[in-house]
Amino acid sequence: MQRNLHRMADFARKRGLRWRPHAKMHKSSAIAKLQMQAGAVGVCVQKTGEAEAMFAGGVHDIYISNEVVAPAKLARVADLAHQLAAERGQLAIAVDSMEGIRRLANAMDDRRRGGAAAIINVFVEIDVGQGRCGVRAGRTAAELAHEIRRHPALRFAGLQAYHGKAQHLRTPQARRDAIATVVQDVLFTRKLIEADGVQVPLVTGAGTGSLVCEAASGVYGELQAGSFLFMDADYAANERDPAQPAFEHALFVKSQVMSSGLLHAVCDAGHKSHAIDSGLPKVLALEPTGELEYLNGGDEHGILKPTGGNQRVPRLDDTVWLIPGHCDPTVNLHNHLVGVTGGLEHGKVDKIIRVDARGALT
Ligand code: PLP
Ligand code: MN
Repeated sequence: MQRNLHRMADFARKRGLRWRPHAKMHKSSAIAKLQMQAGAVGVCVQKTGEAEAMFAGGVHDIYISNEVVAPAKLARVADLAHQLAAERGQLAIAVDSMEGIRRLANAMDDRRRGGAAAIINVFVEIDVGQGRCGVRAGRTAAELAHEIRRHPALRFAGLQAYHGKAQHLRTPQARRDAIATVVQDVLFTRKLIEADGVQVPLVTGAGTGSLVCEAASGVYGELQAGSFLFMDADYAANERDPAQPAFEHALFVKSQVMSSGLLHAVCDAGHKSHAIDSGLPKVLALEPTGELEYLNGGDEHGILKPTGGNQRVPRLDDTVWLIPGHCDPTVNLHNHLVGVTGGLEHGKVDKIIRVDARGALT
């Protein structure tokens, strides 16, 4: 994790880019603070509750890179913006509708009546290919930027342009092609806004799969990648772009063999221990267990079979280290992360890290 962290920090620093890692991945204010010590400007989160947990843990620069429209949640957003301002920190949020902007402005105005005036940074999200949140690139986005500027408690902070579907395109060329289109959309939108005499302070986006492309675009000023820190099996299945830092697996589910037969063994980690939306975990090949295949045994069991010429069926008490298919929802299943230094097998427990935004899903 430390190596991944420093590789990311170097990558951004050499290119003069801000990096704001996504904390929805680790959901831990302690890790967020480590990232900021290494040079991150702050963190992204996806949920109001995650933002609150980060603040409670002492993180003072937070971007909710997502839309929030429920008035009850926006009241919490406005409250947090004021609490952060009191700490000389700041809060940002994404929008993709006129209605969302007006509700946010109302929430900020309601909160302001109570005392000191804070502002919130607001990014207009454009849909750059994922077909998820965001407005179409171009005129609609420019109109949202104008609307933001009409509200004194809101500051137009720039464009949010994240292409989730591009992250796991397997070849570097496929990812380059996808992000080339994204960059055209962003440029076109930025020009339209600037033609009205409005500056676009920042374009923010990028994930672990595509970050080298956004970084090279000359358009993005901030990278939001999150998974690079832990690297899951799905990301390891991407063919690496030579320009991408060589991120290593740093998140493992430790499991023990509890049943062993002639041809297979069973470990005590099923899909209550790790997310399987991006495939089953891989097993780290270590001695004495060697190369193993993990097969679905249900929510509390994992079936292990020797593979790749390995003849040894794991024995009772053997330890296996599982590399989850998808890191974010795996972390969200656990209360703590155990930080180990000096290697997995003979290392020392160095830190117990609380996943303090775990389950903060509203
Ligand atoms: N930004 C946004 C808006 C996201 O939704 C995500 C992940 O889904 C990321 C950044 C981080 O991407 P990754 O964890 O793939 O690096
Ligand atoms: Mn993810």
